[in-house]
Amino acid sequence: MIKISKTSKLDGILSWSLQALDTCPGSIESPGVLVDACKGCYATTGNYNYPNVKAPRLSNKEDWQRIEWVDDMVQALDSSRYFRWFDSGDMYAVGLAEKILEVMQRTPWCKHWLPTRMHKFPKFRAVFREMQALENVMVRFSADSINGEYTPGLHGSVIGPCADSFVQSPGVSLCRAYEHGGTCSGCRACWDKSIDLIAYPAHGQKMQRVIMMKTASA
Ligand code: SF4
Repeated sequence: MIKISKTSKLDGILSWSLQALDTCPGSIESPGVLVDACKGCYATTGNYNYPNVKAPRLSNKEDWQRIEWVDDMVQALDSSRYFRWFDSGDMYAVGLAEKILEVMQRTPWCKHWLPTRMHKFPKFRAVFREMQALENVMVRFSADSINGEYTPGLHGSVIGPCADSFVQSPGVSLCRAYEHGGTCSGCRACWDKSIDLIAYPAHGQKMQRVIMMKTASA
């Protein structure tokens, strides 16, 4: 049975997730080394280690392979206007990507936001093209850096040390969740296809530690 999560940070918007790192091949820079953005991943600490939080993510990894999964997801989104894929984890298999595409196509009333690092693997390109062509879908390719560096035209989101580290420019939107207790508070920029890049100021103690270590070694 599908396990949908309600994310309080996202104003209670629903999401479908997998276990972080286990399903994130795009997080690996070289054997045994994570890309900087994943070294401070919020989904590997705190609440995310609780068995009741891990269980649905582990269950979903098996569950998406059911024949009825797409029908069940479409039904689960019946009254949703916004949906987030992967509060944790990533779209690690082409078979899963094809099923998510079908869910997106069959739920035009719902806006989908899908952050991912799977763009690094050519076999996903065709399905990403089809997703991005849909009016109700925003796929954001995540940059690996934590110092605000990104490739224009490729990346749809990037992390920087603080709000001041980003140069304001057209098409770039600063995530201001930090001004609202870490919640979206009505902002829906991540779903907005007219916004090229979301700039996220780093949050969480783990990420701050990664930034400090990176700065110290520079
Ligand atoms: S940019 Fe807006 S929608 Fe995206 S996470 Fe930040 S507050 Fe939420």
